[in-house]
Amino acid sequence: MNRDDFPILKRTIHNRPLVYFDNAATTQKPQPVIDALSFYYSRFNSNIHRGVHGLSQEATALFEETREKVRQFINAPSNQEVIFTRGTTESINLVASSFGKVFINEGDEILITEMEHHSNIVPWQFICEEKKAHLKVLPFNEKGMLCMDVLDDLLTEKTKIVAVTHTSNTLGTINDISTIIQKAHLKNIPVLIDGAQAMSHEKIDVQQLDCDFFAFSGHKMYAPMGVGVLYGKEKRLSLMPPYQGGGEMVQYVAFEKTTYNELPYKFEAGTPSVGDVIGLKAAIEYIENRGIEKMATEQQELLRYAFEKLSEIDNIEFYGIAPHKAAIISFNLKGLHPFDVGTILDQHGVAVRTGHHCTQPIMNKFGIPGTVRASFSFYNTFEEIDKLIDALKMAKKLFTTY
Ligand code: PMP
Repeated sequence: MNRDDFPILKRTIHNRPLVYFDNAATTQKPQPVIDALSFYYSRFNSNIHRGVHGLSQEATALFEETREKVRQFINAPSNQEVIFTRGTTESINLVASSFGKVFINEGDEILITEMEHHSNIVPWQFICEEKKAHLKVLPFNEKGMLCMDVLDDLLTEKTKIVAVTHTSNTLGTINDISTIIQKAHLKNIPVLIDGAQAMSHEKIDVQQLDCDFFAFSGHKMYAPMGVGVLYGKEKRLSLMPPYQGGGEMVQYVAFEKTTYNELPYKFEAGTPSVGDVIGLKAAIEYIENRGIEKMATEQQELLRYAFEKLSEIDNIEFYGIAPHKAAIISFNLKGLHPFDVGTILDQHGVAVRTGHHCTQPIMNKFGIPGTVRASFSFYNTFEEIDKLIDALKMAKKLFTTY
């Protein structure tokens, strides 16, 4: 257990030791990642790619080393297919806007699922509205598992792209994306995977998955906020127009006509978040040193223990009970509003997320305003789960006496 690597975990909140169970929103940062940021700003800060001076060249080298690190980490065939963005949201918006501009037309269909994060819904709604296309939705069942039996019917000759989350940030469900990709490919439909929740618990191999696009955020895998990645197959990216215009994404600019840079720079307009990108390299190294399989096992043990303990509480309702699940538990205590529960937990130093978790369609399906969500990382402990349970019991007692 390398809990000591995370200085923030030594904090107190309301005079209680911080119990951080909001890892699906963002993970905490280990010291090597914090050091990488400080190292960059104290020794290398300079704008990249455009400088002949030594500092700029060193910063560029570090930036490009990170691209290579990401390529290896997700097993992308080439660095041209690794685009730095601000995060999952920007990666998905890039594809929806750029792919949509060329390949989506009136009457076409885009298939998503009922458990998507808003960032994998709204960008597609933009393009549907613009192109008069239709958004189709693959539903999930009462366990929070996608209804795979209706997938074939929803993949029609009008479907131009499928966009699906690898792991639900609300239900915890790990979807059978391999089957979705295979079925879509049988009909020559490209697939985008929202991998925001995947990176902290699973080794991702984009070639093995054979997905066309894979989007993720650094900050959910121990890296700084402000950096994310879009992996895209070169054969797809090369046919897509630039997303944003500006510096770096151009080859030659004239008022009459501008030509665009090669991949991946065509999609990287403006000054990127260089320090955060270099922090992402440190985060990947941290994960590799610890071992993603080990992290996954530790998280699964916490999940099992938390489920067992939470199930002992009367009148608890779970949302998302798929057998193949990440360490994310959404629940409500019957009769109590999730905000009230979250507030009491906070008083005990326990940080959970409450609300709709940017998945309002899931809340609508269950007919609830929100849930309490506890999400675990490998640095959490069984003792911390016991504290969550005790605080929940206190919340129940407090509110039922009124
Ligand atoms: N998709 C999923 C499944 C998520 O959990 C999140 C973050 N909660 C996002 C997309 C958006 O990620 P970001 O805000 O880092 O762009």
